[in-house]
Amino acid sequence: MGAVMDTRRWIERFAELVAADADRLTGLDAAIGDADHGANLNRGLRAAVEAVGPDLPPGKVLMAAGRALVSKTGGASGPLYGGALRRAGKALGDAADADAAALAGALRAALDAVQELGKAVEGDKTMVDALAPAVAAYAAAAGDGPAIAAQAALDAAEKGAEATVPLQARKGRASYLGPRSVGHLDPGAASTVLLFRALADAAGE
Ligand code: ADP
Ligand code: MG
Ligand code: MG
Repeated sequence: MGAVMDTRRWIERFAELVAADADRLTGLDAAIGDADHGANLNRGLRAAVEAVGPDLPPGKVLMAAGRALVSKTGGASGPLYGGALRRAGKALGDAADADAAALAGALRAALDAVQELGKAVEGDKTMVDALAPAVAAYAAAAGDGPAIAAQAALDAAEKGAEATVPLQARKGRASYLGPRSVGHLDPGAASTVLLFRALADAAGE
């Protein structure tokens, strides 16, 4: 178990997982949105991986990835994920490494950015339903190190995402469907699970 997080590997792994699951994410968005979530995020993350140089400190990595996501991802999710990573990177500052406590603070900053930009609260059937419990679980387990904290966050994100199925969407495109949004997994919550799977994978390597 490493004591510091390789944020570059995190972003690369997130890009790999989204590329592998892009069709599933787009399929989820076909049910309650406009069938582009996997394609949007895949495009943005390719740009993010290219934008992240090998010799940057962990906070700068997240800021560069976030900027690329904002500019290259279409749709609502680009500014939200991009804003989240930029804010997380800013929280890490210029420090040479990021331990679990620092990352807990960065994840909290990411959640704050998503909620400031998108105005969603838990229960609105958005990525916040996976992100908020994951951030809380990471913080609660940060004392056990980055690998255990990331695994706890992943478990919480999965539960939060699954809990979006019976909800009616109150934010984003799915909200236009009203009650017809019930019974479907929110695509952004599903991609947030991949964000934390990537974190757990990167922390465990
Ligand atoms: P678009 O809806 O513009 O096509 P995407 O399909 O890429 O964008 O992303 C849709 C996802 O974005 C949703 O499943 C939801 O999780 C998330 N989302 C949309 N609006 C908001 C919001 N206001 N706050 C938080 N997340 C949101
Ligand atoms: Mg969409
Ligand atoms: Mg769209």
